[in-house]
Amino acid sequence: MKRSQLRAIPAVEKVLQALGDAGVPRPLVLDVVRRELAALRKGKSVPEFEAVVAQIRGALRDLRSSRIRPLINGTGILIHTNFGRAPLGERVIEAVAQIGAHYNNLEYGLAGGRRGGRAAYLENSLAVLCGAEAATVVNNNAAALVLILRHFCDTGQSGKSAPRKNEVIISRGELVQIGGGFRIPDILETSGARLREVGATNKTTLRDYARAICRETALILKVHRSNFFMGGFVESPAPEEIGALARSKKVPFVEDLGSGAMIETEKIAGLEHEPTPAEVIRRGVDLVCFSGDKLLGGPQAGIVAGKGKLIDALKRDPFFRALRCDKLILAALEATAEAYLCGEPNLPVLRMLRMGELELRARAQTLCDALAGLPLRATIGAGQAQIGGGTLPRSVIESVTLDLAHHSLPPQEFAARLRDQPLPVIGYVVRGAVKLDLRTIFRDQDAALLAAIRAACNS
Ligand SMILES: *Cc1c(COP(=O)(O)O)cnc(C)c1O
Repeated sequence: MKRSQLRAIPAVEKVLQALGDAGVPRPLVLDVVRRELAALRKGKSVPEFEAVVAQIRGALRDLRSSRIRPLINGTGILIHTNFGRAPLGERVIEAVAQIGAHYNNLEYGLAGGRRGGRAAYLENSLAVLCGAEAATVVNNNAAALVLILRHFCDTGQSGKSAPRKNEVIISRGELVQIGGGFRIPDILETSGARLREVGATNKTTLRDYARAICRETALILKVHRSNFFMGGFVESPAPEEIGALARSKKVPFVEDLGSGAMIETEKIAGLEHEPTPAEVIRRGVDLVCFSGDKLLGGPQAGIVAGKGKLIDALKRDPFFRALRCDKLILAALEATAEAYLCGEPNLPVLRMLRMGELELRARAQTLCDALAGLPLRATIGAGQAQIGGGTLPRSVIESVTLDLAHHSLPPQEFAARLRDQPLPVIGYVVRGAVKLDLRTIFRDQDAALLAAIRAACNS
């Protein structure tokens, strides 16, 4: 121990030389080296030079792998929030590339040669798709919800005397948490709204809503239970009834729909009915908000549709400016909306949903054949794909998997090696094999998938 206590902290230059090319820009390498050496300085002893370099290499590997890059999603979860939710369609990518690379008429009226409205074409397209008087877009659905709550709730900043209109009526069965750290009650609170819970977890009646309405009521909020379901002794009033009540009391009725499916999901084998924005508007909601990158299959965005007067008011709110979308998102969403307006939207998420078992099986067979000779057993398996992204939790889509059992490596170890490839492959382990669901793997990634499997066997 005595010798190691005497060993000096290596010089930065010497470490840099030993590292060679780290695969990230030099300022980032320098930063990692300095930090690691500073940590050594705080420790009791200094390891041998080689051990120091190896540790820094490990830190650089972690840094390199955290850089955003494409991967192969073999989980069978179509809208995976960890994997960037919906992949964009080919046409959508083209639009983003065109608009991003050049100047454009984002806020310019070509007819008059003057400043024009932002996103007018997109807003009109979304309104038509939702069967609504008007629509608009912000950065994500959480932002849409915050904007709506802040706008309709008097947060006390106006200095007017009581009573303040800041109560939001919501059923106890809808106080949900969506994903990591997004809880409806917290969102309400940060927006300056006061929560007025009504009913019980499993049952809320129209009378519960009616009794809660008072001078302080700012709005009635309905939240689609997107990521869980309730069965058994369950009741909630029809949207038509809540809508009629809200109109008679002159309070806005808002629904957070979550996913915003624009297709008839029940027509796809294994899926239940998911209400569409047009449907909830038809049934009496004044405003509906939903995500752009869930079942809609577009970029991250929060879409609000409904009564023209309310949408106008939201757009005039000073806070709207802080939530507005960038030109690339607007271009992507416009192309996505256009795909729906033209009928038969050719978007990756929808293609994956509709992919037939025969086609998946044929691909699985080709892949299995191509893997002959490697130290693993490749077989065709069964899987259950899911929508994910907190959508249709009860629905499972029968799917086909490529099951890989390495002759000597434990499946967790082989799964880790697949993740460690330049184009990482993410699967899941079931009974001794790594399963890769082909439904969420793009067909044009099959060759890359084979290369990654081969490399994982050899690494
Ligand atoms: C996903 C979801 C949200 C959050 O949407 P983001 O676009 O991720 O901000 C809000 N409400 C519901 C019901 C959801 O399902």
